[in-house]
Amino acid sequence: MALDGSALAHTVSSLVSYAVGCGLVDAADEAWAYNAVLESVGATGPAPAAVGDASDLDLEATLASLAEVAVANGVADDTGTGRDRAAMRIMGRLTPRPSDVAARFHDLEAASPVSATDWFYKLSCDAGYVRRAAIARNIRWTTPTRWGDLEITINLSKPEKDPRDIAAAGAAASTDEVYPACQLCMSNEGYPGRAAADVAGAHPARQNLRIIPLELEGERWGLQYSPYAYFDEHCIAMSAEHRPMHVDRTSMSCLLDLVDLFPHYLFGSNADLPIVGGSILSHDHFQGGRHVFPMMRAASCETFAMGEHPDVSCEVLVWPLSVLRLTSPDRTHVLDAATHVLTCWRSYSDASVGVLAETCGVPHNTCTPIVHRDGDDYVVDLALRCNVTSDENPLGVFHPHARWHHIKKENIGLIEVMGLAILPPRLVGELDAVRVHLLDGTSLDDDPLSASHAPWAREVAERHPDLTADVADQVLKDEVGAVFGHVLEDAGVFKWDDEGRAALERFLATL
Ligand SMILES: [Zn+2]
Repeated sequence: MALDGSALAHTVSSLVSYAVGCGLVDAADEAWAYNAVLESVGATGPAPAAVGDASDLDLEATLASLAEVAVANGVADDTGTGRDRAAMRIMGRLTPRPSDVAARFHDLEAASPVSATDWFYKLSCDAGYVRRAAIARNIRWTTPTRWGDLEITINLSKPEKDPRDIAAAGAAASTDEVYPACQLCMSNEGYPGRAAADVAGAHPARQNLRIIPLELEGERWGLQYSPYAYFDEHCIAMSAEHRPMHVDRTSMSCLLDLVDLFPHYLFGSNADLPIVGGSILSHDHFQGGRHVFPMMRAASCETFAMGEHPDVSCEVLVWPLSVLRLTSPDRTHVLDAATHVLTCWRSYSDASVGVLAETCGVPHNTCTPIVHRDGDDYVVDLALRCNVTSDENPLGVFHPHARWHHIKKENIGLIEVMGLAILPPRLVGELDAVRVHLLDGTSLDDDPLSASHAPWAREVAERHPDLTADVADQVLKDEVGAVFGHVLEDAGVFKWDDEGRAALERFLATL
């Protein structure tokens, strides 16, 4: 329901007071900001209301009610994404200009990179670009496994698609020239967004997106925070050029540049091949943040030496994927060593364990590199990846196997490689149905919500013959965590059995 006049005045005044309080808007610009918000919801009055401190404003709810005003006034589409575009348009008016944000960031960074990212992260949250309230809806837990405590997230923060948007997208004609070319292009900064019915298709509104310009390897890059973050200060560094992902010496050097600029963050790259890469291969980018992932805490089970790189410490991690850790205080030495491992791996085949460097000229081997600082040391973790497929595993030999697809069938990308699962929202209702049927003894197979989980759920029941309502939720969470450990094992090229360990030693001997 759209607000009446006095409620509108109070809501807009509260939002402006909030924006002044958190430093988005200068107090001297208060009247201007009030009018800017009125204009963006299609209103020309009333006068501002007197409001007190608004620092505890519920930003999401405030923007939702202002978006209703915009719909009622005919300046926003009457759909979920239409309301979202209206909300972002409002916040775009209250967010400082990109050049001002960048100047302030670089001033702070000169004194302390931590204070620069603290400030920019807070700004990205306060401006509503990072969806704090939506992120808080995600369901999270950790599960102890043989690989340490794995982190599980059921992602409830991304909005469900509106059926009207989906229908409109189907009806819209496609065009060749799409602007912005993708969601990671720097040209998204300030973009108004498009409805699904638009001839170019749906695109999110980005009026409140701000990007810090960076230089990596002599090229122009940008840094922004992720709107639907999966971990603390989840950020994205993207190339100014819309070009495909690549993993090579240059990209790993960019990762080292990033941890030189921001030593308190880790940065990693998705692999550059389908199946083992992330969801966006079309735009060169990295992800980073301020989080200690389970993989970073993994112990090493052996050290090895690379003859040409005597002063780089080389370890094999106790981790379900096959991860080599290279450590050195000298960034050139660690980069040389990492490049050597990648080059050797690209052309390495061992048919006895299913690793094939290429088939019919199509390359399969790559790696997922992750870089962080440990005191003066650079630590480069290289997860060895292979995207070969087989008749038995048509989606990928080193990909979640079919028996786990009821929990996880998507690619194992960078974040999951490090031990943080991102699971689909459907699991909330499905796991609840499994829990009810296990407790009631009713049929798992007859309920469409639980049917896909039935064989697994029966195994769970066998492992927990005395399952009670008190513990059922926790048992299922732990079992889902265990499944995540298994899908990571599926993604490991050298398994943790005698055959796999012997194969790993053969590869290490080539380095
Ligand atoms: Zn792009």
